[in-house]
Amino acid sequence: MHDVVIVGAGPVGLFLACELGLAGCSVLVLEREAETSSPWRAAPLGMRGLSAASVEAFYRRGMLDPLLKASHPGTRSRGGGHFAGMMLDPAKVDFAALPYRLPSPATEGVMTNLEAVETVLSERAAMLGVEVRRGVTVSAIAQDDETVVARAGEHEFAARWLVGCDGGRSAVRGLAGFDFAGTDPQFTGYVVLATIADPEKLRPGFNLTPTGMYLQMPAKGHLGVMEFDGGAFDRSQRPTREHLQAVLRRVSGTDVTLSDVHLASSFTDRAMQTTTYRQGRVLLAGDAAHIHSPLGAQGLNLGLGDAMNLGWKLAATVHGYAPDGLVDTYTRERHQIGAWVLDWTRAQAAVMRPDPHAQALQGVIRDLIGTRDGTTYVADKVSGSSIRYDLGSEHPLVGRNAPDFCLEDGTRLGDLLQDGRGVALDFSIDRYLHGSAMGWESRMRYAAGPAIDDLGAGAVLVRPDGIVAWAGDRDPDREAFERAAGRWFGSPASFPGPAA
Ligand SMILES: Cc1cc2nc3c(=O)[nH]c(=O)nc-3n(C[C@H](O)[C@H](O)[C@H](O)COP(=O)(O)OP(=O)(O)OC[C@H]3O[C@@H](n4cnc5c(N)ncnc54)[C@H](O)[C@@H]3O)c2cc1C
Repeated sequence: MHDVVIVGAGPVGLFLACELGLAGCSVLVLEREAETSSPWRAAPLGMRGLSAASVEAFYRRGMLDPLLKASHPGTRSRGGGHFAGMMLDPAKVDFAALPYRLPSPATEGVMTNLEAVETVLSERAAMLGVEVRRGVTVSAIAQDDETVVARAGEHEFAARWLVGCDGGRSAVRGLAGFDFAGTDPQFTGYVVLATIADPEKLRPGFNLTPTGMYLQMPAKGHLGVMEFDGGAFDRSQRPTREHLQAVLRRVSGTDVTLSDVHLASSFTDRAMQTTTYRQGRVLLAGDAAHIHSPLGAQGLNLGLGDAMNLGWKLAATVHGYAPDGLVDTYTRERHQIGAWVLDWTRAQAAVMRPDPHAQALQGVIRDLIGTRDGTTYVADKVSGSSIRYDLGSEHPLVGRNAPDFCLEDGTRLGDLLQDGRGVALDFSIDRYLHGSAMGWESRMRYAAGPAIDDLGAGAVLVRPDGIVAWAGDRDPDREAFERAAGRWFGSPASFPGPAA
């Protein structure tokens, strides 16, 4: 029996598998597709924008260089992006106004593709002893107090926990009885790779029009089109050349001709989320837990954030040293971020609607985005770096993604997080918290010394997912530190933990 079965070897399932493997769990990933390669996952159709927060997650696990290499010619950008097709000007972003950030190798977003992300994660998962079985479609699940069993045809796979990372049409979600609630679509979108007879009739980049939006990507014949049809297109059908051409003509207001369509798929702005991310021994992460339109390039970033948040908590639960209720903080922390992303995409659909009220609102938003504060606000949101969980502390750093503190000897927080343990950073010169941190060595690293910039803190406790769990002042309170360590890492030294 495995500790954890993950259903789905997409980016979220693989990232989670790496987190669990790093923490010493036995992990089996079951994937429906027999082949790893697909034109939908390679560039240009598989192109995806990773936010600065996602890039930071790769950095914190020592996978940033492999990701950049695999993403070649992946572009890096800081402060870019769009809101409802209205482009941000990175030159207008006031980076100094972004709270609690420090220089880091991972402050920029990266344009990559699903194949590159999955290749890097698959290689890491294999190194960590994760088993991936392809050509296995999970079609039934049964669970009791001790185990959960996934069935695929004649085969059964038992584990102590199962995580559904099986995408937007998740089978696990239905099989385990999750409620899935949200809003109906207003538009149908299409991703198309076509031969365009007269591409000069279309403008490059994002183009908001009175009936929707079209997007002409840099790769020849790669288009995105969104039409406000109330989500009427029957998505069980493959869109035909005739249909796509008619939609593109209506949305672009041109008589452009698609002479051939090589690949095409459809999506909508239906925005749905499960009401919880856990049912007994079954959890959900990524698109299995939340779906929404791709407006604003958020889905993959949201799913990677889920995996980073869940991995260490589930591993601690598997190993038996998790404090009570740790795994349930996953839903508590991530559900609200998912809900926010759904609203962010709904807000974009709302200003794109083909009615005079929405068009008026579009003008207002365009003016706001044109200002320095407006650009900074949107850039901060899409970077994912300003997420803050309510961990019950007034300290402004607690609950935030930790800035990449750098000690004067050059040691960076991002490097210290690479083995998947938490980190206690003590900026005092006399290693004030050293004795207190000793009890948790298997679950937390201790590093001490003055920082190049400590942002006014005397010490910080950072969880394995890079979130600040506790922050002390110049004369840190040892008891408060120990209480925080116990809250997130369990009793000191009561269990050896995987990284001992
Ligand atoms: C056009 C478009 C552009 C996008 N651009 C961006 C972007 O720029 N940035 C961004 O952050 N997001 C973007 N997204 C969203 C992003 O692609 C998804 O959110 C992300 O791929 C979800 O990852 P996942 O691992 O949760 O699911 P998936 O990638 O869907 O992986 C799920 C896996 O589960 C497998 N599976 C399914 N059912 C079963 C089963 N029963 N048994 C076994 N295996 C199963 C599937 O074969 C698949 O491999 C975009 C989406 C679209 C459509």
